[in-house]
Amino acid sequence: MNPLYHRAEFMLSAPNLQTTPEGIDYEVAFAGRSNAGKSSAINTLCNQKSLARTSKTPGRTQELVYFKLDERRCLVDLPGYGYAKVPLNVQLKWQKELERYMEKRKALNGLVLLVDIRRSLAEYDLQMINYAAHLNLDVFIALTKADKLNRNGAKNTLFAVQKQLKDSTATTQVELFSSLKKEGIEQLHHWLDAHLDEPKKA
Ligand code: GDP
Repeated sequence: MNPLYHRAEFMLSAPNLQTTPEGIDYEVAFAGRSNAGKSSAINTLCNQKSLARTSKTPGRTQELVYFKLDERRCLVDLPGYGYAKVPLNVQLKWQKELERYMEKRKALNGLVLLVDIRRSLAEYDLQMINYAAHLNLDVFIALTKADKLNRNGAKNTLFAVQKQLKDSTATTQVELFSSLKKEGIEQLHHWLDAHLDEPKKA
């Protein structure tokens, strides 16, 4: 049980940095490929059925979706990436916007990256991790849908991803995660608690 997250409510959708809410001290952004299980993870984390929309038309809305936890803290749902039907020019424009947000948004204090455990880290996942490292942002990597693998398979993937990131300059925590089985929720709550309440990046 973690009441802070259970109280989450939709606040606003921001198409760019300029329209992000003022007066927020801490926020953590959620990123991942379309279909990685990001909406399900946010819903499970907040113990709500339909706070984040599970993707019907993934990748269509290129907006930062803000969920308010309390007066000074938010979770931010970034658009899922890697959705082929989004035209390249739209993808590139969004990528620039996203970089600007990540670089300039003072309240941003961490990144949660959702990765389907059955797929390895995609190029764009690695780019996000490296960019976060460059900006001094810690990254929590949730290997989602862990229930789809048996225990050994899941653990082996966890070790493989940890090994893959061994030489990275990023500060990462990698965990098995399943919205279905409620696995990894406690670890993520704990990580979020720490990143929604500590000195911000310089
Ligand atoms: P998003 O596009 O990243 O927001 O992904 P969604 O949350 O919409 O999930 C994509 C698909 O994966 C849906 O069909 C979900 O039901 C399924 N899914 C999400 N999380 C889990 C999980 O923990 N276990 C299983 N087995 N399926 C999941």
